Amino acid sequence: MAKATVSLVRCGSYDPAETTTSVERLLGLLGGPGAFLKPGMRVLVKPNLLMAAAPDRACTTHPEILIAVIKSLKSFGCEVLFGDLPGGFHVGSTPKVHSAAGMVRVAEETGAELAVLEKSGFKKIDIPNGKRVRSIHRAAILDEVDAVVNVCKLKTHMQTLMTGAMKNMFGLTTSQDRIIAHRNSGYVPFSEAIVDIFSAMPPKLNIMDAVVGMDGTGPAQGTPRRFGFLLASGDAVALDTVAAVALGFRPDEIAMIESARKRNLGASRLSQINIVGDSLSSVKIKARRPSSAISFLLPFVTNSYNELTKVRPVINKDKCKACGKCGAVCPAEAISFPGKSARIDDGRCLLCYCCHEICPHDAVDLNKSFLVKIAEMISG
Ligand code: SF4
Ligand code: SF4
Repeated sequence: MAKATVSLVRCGSYDPAETTTSVERLLGLLGGPGAFLKPGMRVLVKPNLLMAAAPDRACTTHPEILIAVIKSLKSFGCEVLFGDLPGGFHVGSTPKVHSAAGMVRVAEETGAELAVLEKSGFKKIDIPNGKRVRSIHRAAILDEVDAVVNVCKLKTHMQTLMTGAMKNMFGLTTSQDRIIAHRNSGYVPFSEAIVDIFSAMPPKLNIMDAVVGMDGTGPAQGTPRRFGFLLASGDAVALDTVAAVALGFRPDEIAMIESARKRNLGASRLSQINIVGDSLSSVKIKARRPSSAISFLLPFVTNSYNELTKVRPVINKDKCKACGKCGAVCPAEAISFPGKSARIDDGRCLLCYCCHEICPHDAVDLNKSFLVKIAEMISG
């Protein structure tokens, strides 16, 4: 079987001259946009626009990477629009996200259309081979474009250990579909649901912004960390596999990669991947794992001594503004508002951490057990 190809380019900053040169080299190593697209194609560039956060918080794909990618695709001859469905888009947060994350400037500098995807509606599609999700409602705009170019952000993730190319496609579904997917409680079931959704709309080209990513309690409240590289590939699984190894994970401990491997969705081992450009050893990093990781990786401990490995979300009453956003995304309807702040019913909570991820006021703390704190100290 032919090896998948992933291009890797070291890129130390978001200085426009450096990102432009690096993106051109990154795509050139794969044969240029023409290896995946044709001139005249209408292309949706799909960034990760998780929430209304400034680019330096490293929650979202950096505007300079998008500018470089879009300019490259446009100069190749594609018609480009770009956009995502941020968490909370259903309550009108998209314009705020666009403004905070620097997307308005991307549109101004590139001339590409900044699409408000929810305006085009959604279309139901079946996923006959889905393991956890058998149908979704995906952004209808996908039927109006010829290709998707997935421009993801590399971060650790409280639910899936890491987020990269496969996970980014989750953002093209409705809020309700995301809530349903989150009801697949647990590391492996939720990761399988993500792969189901990815399998229903694989992008033509995947580009990863790992110049400054995030480690620790990602994908929203972790620590921005300079990883210093970019990846690109037509194979999203291969790209995630290289990213996982760069962060210090084994590919087989990332449940999304394992699920994709079992379905032959892409290359899931370094031995199946040809890395072109800079070497993987030149960017290897030991990322701090999310505090939830111990319960993923030691399931026998979790089963026997459940509370010892759990990381529970807890509302910080001093910070909570009772805005309701956490309640709107909670898949278990475990959040109520009995007074001036939110309250979590631990008995219903699925530990999906969506409330922690979406809270704009940093009012969801993580209550870590003694064992989890020890594990974090050991892993550094
Ligand atoms: S915890 Fe955060 S998201 Fe939830 S109501 Fe309070 S401020 Fe809003
Ligand atoms: S309370 Fe928070 S962590 Fe628990 S199920 Fe709801 S959103 Fe998920």
